[in-house]
Amino acid sequence: MGFLTPARRALLGRRAAVSSGVLGVLCVLAELCFLLPDLLVTRDALPVYRANLDLFRGVLLVSLIATFVLGMASLFLLRSKLHGLLGIALAGIALLMGGHEAQPLGVEGAPVAAGIDYLVLELLLLGLIFVPLERMFPLKPARIFRAGWQTDLKHFFVSHAGVQLLSLASMLPAQALFARFVHLDFQQAVAAQPYWLQFLEILLVIDFTTYWVHRAFHKLPWLWNFHAIHHSSRELDWLAGSRIHLLDAFVTRAAGFTPVFVFGFAQPALFAYVAFVSLHAVYIHSNTRWRLPLLRWIIATPEYHHWHHTSDEEGLDKNFAVVFPLYDRLFGTLHLPDYWPRRYGTVNFQPPESWLGQLVHPFRRRVVTPYG
Ligand SMILES: [Zn+2]
Ligand SMILES: [Zn+2]
Repeated sequence: MGFLTPARRALLGRRAAVSSGVLGVLCVLAELCFLLPDLLVTRDALPVYRANLDLFRGVLLVSLIATFVLGMASLFLLRSKLHGLLGIALAGIALLMGGHEAQPLGVEGAPVAAGIDYLVLELLLLGLIFVPLERMFPLKPARIFRAGWQTDLKHFFVSHAGVQLLSLASMLPAQALFARFVHLDFQQAVAAQPYWLQFLEILLVIDFTTYWVHRAFHKLPWLWNFHAIHHSSRELDWLAGSRIHLLDAFVTRAAGFTPVFVFGFAQPALFAYVAFVSLHAVYIHSNTRWRLPLLRWIIATPEYHHWHHTSDEEGLDKNFAVVFPLYDRLFGTLHLPDYWPRRYGTVNFQPPESWLGQLVHPFRRRVVTPYG
């Protein structure tokens, strides 16, 4: 590769090494899911995996080969061999665990499954969609491994690995408070509507609730301490949206789930909501430049949510809705000019960069200034 400058060679080598490492970790986690499905795999998704076993084994095989090839490429490109060897070692461990033909060990009777499958598939799928998209249509100069990406990846791992526990915990307040007051006939009528209508209603109901919770997180200083973690990224991309304090995620989900529980929407509509919002929440943080005329007034786009993340004066405390700009228009907080914001992040202070530092930061912080 004599045609590559040393700097370019080092950059490509680092990219290959990091991609191999991240993919290697996902392969090992996927092997664990194959070996211990009862313990680690989302209960509701198990039948889907069993029915499409060949497909998921094929994905695992391709990922194993990619981990190995990327690791080898980084050995070739980088002077330091450590990182490339790490990816190759992870691919080796995954192979020893059974490769794409791993046989389940069958541990039954676990009360809650960890949902590792969700983490692995979601990261793989989102990476495959958004890494190329941000490179082809970047808003700002694209850097896959920008400052803070490792912290955001840790946030992603923790919130997705704990997704079932977090979801179960988020449902507890609604169940404890409203279980006795629910009128069954009313709930049956709601659940009997067409699924597409329920899907829309869920979006409207959750977005209304989370609008006010989100606004409270900005306006009450002790809540802002937690939510500031989400706003601390100085660069936005698809991974930056994962930076959320666990308490922030829990309170927001619990508040969103409460009306959904009271109304009694049907499960398929709820699943459609979860699938939509998982993709949409990542998209609105992404470093992509499509402005989407007309549509941008109906549904939140990257431009809309980037204004929520800005540290430019004109955009502070605007665009609290996650899905429908309608709510910001109704409650007087809409801000959508014909240009993009210049800067992102918190004003006056910067939370720590490490994942653990961000987790404990709100509990330690006493002095609070507006937006700071
Ligand atoms: Zn916010
Ligand atoms: Zn955000």
